Amino acid sequence: MLFLDELPEFNRRTLEVLRQPLEDGTVTISRALHSTTFPADMMLIAALNPCPCGYRGDPRRQCNCTVPQIERYMSKISGPLLDRIDLHIEVPAVPYKELAAERAGTSSASMREQVVAARAIQARRFEGSHTRYNARMTSRQIRSHCKLDTECQNLLQASVNDLGLSARAHDKVLRVARTIADLDASEKIEPQHITEAINYRMLDRQLWT
Ligand SMILES: [Zn+2]
Repeated sequence: MLFLDELPEFNRRTLEVLRQPLEDGTVTISRALHSTTFPADMMLIAALNPCPCGYRGDPRRQCNCTVPQIERYMSKISGPLLDRIDLHIEVPAVPYKELAAERAGTSSASMREQVVAARAIQARRFEGSHTRYNARMTSRQIRSHCKLDTECQNLLQASVNDLGLSARAHDKVLRVARTIADLDASEKIEPQHITEAINYRMLDRQLWT
């Protein structure tokens, strides 16, 4: 697992190098005489602020960043890199009252159980192929394991048009929807699975403009 905190603080060229390992699970290092390919199959987790000061969208603090400042900050992360990240999630500031309240959420143990069950479904699905989990499905596997009914197709079509999703992002939505359906122990991808998967493409929505 590779965790990059404050993603836009990294050099853009450094970030672009991540494209190959994210896509193929390998990295090729080229020197004058040789080029060697190494395994680099990792899960990338990255965190970033909504703007340089960090208070954009926070109801309790004033953000004084200008639009060009926010644009410059976000432009460090290229579209092609964002495209290769499966889930984009906004984590809003939590008010103190909620932080202090004792609320029973999902425990790590029960979350683990759900993940193990979903992985077992995927192990059966991909038996005899090189694929181990949904995120690595080939286009052919997507076609056979992510069949959509008309309602789901229309939902996906509408968001591809509205958000201007690329072909790669479209396939990512299908892989993620397949996983959400697996977590739900549902053989079929239902409209709520597609909707949830689309909601995880938040940064395709250009919220900062
Ligand atoms: Zn700000």
